[in-house]
Amino acid sequence: MSKKIIIIGAGIAGLSAGCHARRNGYEVEIFEKENRPGGLCTAWERNGYTFDGCIHWLVGTGPGSQFNRLWREVGALQGSEIYDHEVFLRLEGEQGRCVNIYSDLERLKNHLLELSPEDAPVIEEITGAALAFSRVKFPLEKARELYRPWDLPRLMVRMLPLFQYMGKLSRVSVAAYLKNFKDPFLREALGQLMPGGYAMTGLVSTLASLHSRDAGFPRGGSLEFARSIEQYYLALGGQIRYRAGVKRILVEGGRAAGIILEDGTREYGDIIISAADLHHTLYTLLKGKYLTPPIKQAFRLDTYTSVQVSLGVAADLAAEPHRLALRLKEPWVVGGEANRYLLINNYAFDPTLNPPGKTALAATLYSGYEEWSKLAQDQSRYREEKEKIAARVVELVEQRFPAARGRVETVDVATPLTYNRYTNVYQGAYMAWIVPPAAGQMSIAKTLPGLEGFYQIGQWVQPPAGLPGSMLTGRHVLQVICRKDKRRFREGPLPPP
Ligand SMILES: Cc1cc2nc3c(=O)[nH]c(=O)nc-3n(C[C@H](O)[C@H](O)[C@H](O)COP(=O)(O)OP(=O)(O)OC[C@H]3O[C@@H](n4cnc5c(N)ncnc54)[C@H](O)[C@@H]3O)c2cc1C
Repeated sequence: MSKKIIIIGAGIAGLSAGCHARRNGYEVEIFEKENRPGGLCTAWERNGYTFDGCIHWLVGTGPGSQFNRLWREVGALQGSEIYDHEVFLRLEGEQGRCVNIYSDLERLKNHLLELSPEDAPVIEEITGAALAFSRVKFPLEKARELYRPWDLPRLMVRMLPLFQYMGKLSRVSVAAYLKNFKDPFLREALGQLMPGGYAMTGLVSTLASLHSRDAGFPRGGSLEFARSIEQYYLALGGQIRYRAGVKRILVEGGRAAGIILEDGTREYGDIIISAADLHHTLYTLLKGKYLTPPIKQAFRLDTYTSVQVSLGVAADLAAEPHRLALRLKEPWVVGGEANRYLLINNYAFDPTLNPPGKTALAATLYSGYEEWSKLAQDQSRYREEKEKIAARVVELVEQRFPAARGRVETVDVATPLTYNRYTNVYQGAYMAWIVPPAAGQMSIAKTLPGLEGFYQIGQWVQPPAGLPGSMLTGRHVLQVICRKDKRRFREGPLPPP
């Protein structure tokens, strides 16, 4: 008889684990507290607009790329139309100064050199490193737990072309490295690509994926993308129960034996995988009993989150940039976090997200979590703060896009508390920890000492995460389980079921 695996959470990690588990012959049931798949990878409808809440760039959209094969293995990106933009981000500063972050590295280099010839050494180093990164295949397919002694020397050989850069860029944070720029506007421009605490290799590998046309936007957006994996999982014979929040993981004799749902019912399985938020899993579902020193240490690292103001505009903004960072006259403090830019995503390029002739926009402002948490103790103050932020965003959007004046017909605000309420994500931190250069290659064990039959996966287990990292943890955990059960891990993609 095949073993039964229970998976908590139908986010990308849970769905990926579900697909791999089915392909490898396990009976699988996913329990998800919400009524739809995707977790943080989601979107919501308001007045005919689809407000996308996640994908800005998805690594693996390039046909034939390493991540593309891994996505197809879980039923995603099978024939999806991909939007790759020539300009990934346009920054507009004061006195009409603009920087375009081109996806093509040669074009980016020439553009930045034109703007600031005196920054040639640093511009050449960044674009040269990104080009080198774009040519290397990282060893992703295999779980680290399964590495053999000879895998490491092989890995070193694969990484040889990066040695020139790795030593330097993996040890310096984005913020520290960008100080090398003499032109403050260029420094700020590249700083908008990711929070300053990350290692510089993170920024360089993002530029590398853009250059390879492997970091696009799938038509239909985040929820459609999640649904494609859900449908594949169901077609493989997996089961999902929605509106089935898990209250606790049942432990019997040192073994995870099942789960207790919010309504009190108990479900038993041979293996329990939590693909829910790591903090929630450890502190709530397991009541803080299996914490390890590395986990406690990791939760001291910084995280980040933001406020998203989504706007439905009764005007076609297709001629405007698809991603724009507007420099603000004064820093705007939101939830204790100072913003120098307002980041605006313009979804006019994807007709599935907008009513005809209209445009969905999403503006992002970085924010802390705690202030929102305090504010929410008084719901009217919380609402007022949201309204205040929304009104200011509308004003800025109308200033920048004259066609939008008086035509903003729908407004929606998601705060860091929204992310937490919707997915239980710790402090609204939708990209897990900011892994600083000093932490090196970080990963959290998928098993816990003293708890048999239990595995934890998802964005926190293998940061820096995002969607590809979460998906990978679902693959890797099945490799580990198959090894333990002495089964050969079956890879995909199989012909569509
Ligand atoms: C605004 C924003 C922009 C982003 N941009 C990008 C991007 O451009 N590219 C990129 O790669 N990534 C991006 N991300 C990050 C990406 O969405 C996440 O890293 C990824 O989706 C995490 O997936 P996960 O499966 O690990 O966790 P989650 O998505 O958090 O999934 C966990 C699931 O478990 C469920 N759950 C939690 N507790 C319980 C319980 N007790 N019982 C039952 N179910 C439970 C939740 O409802 C959820 O469905 C972005 C995220 C956001 C919010």
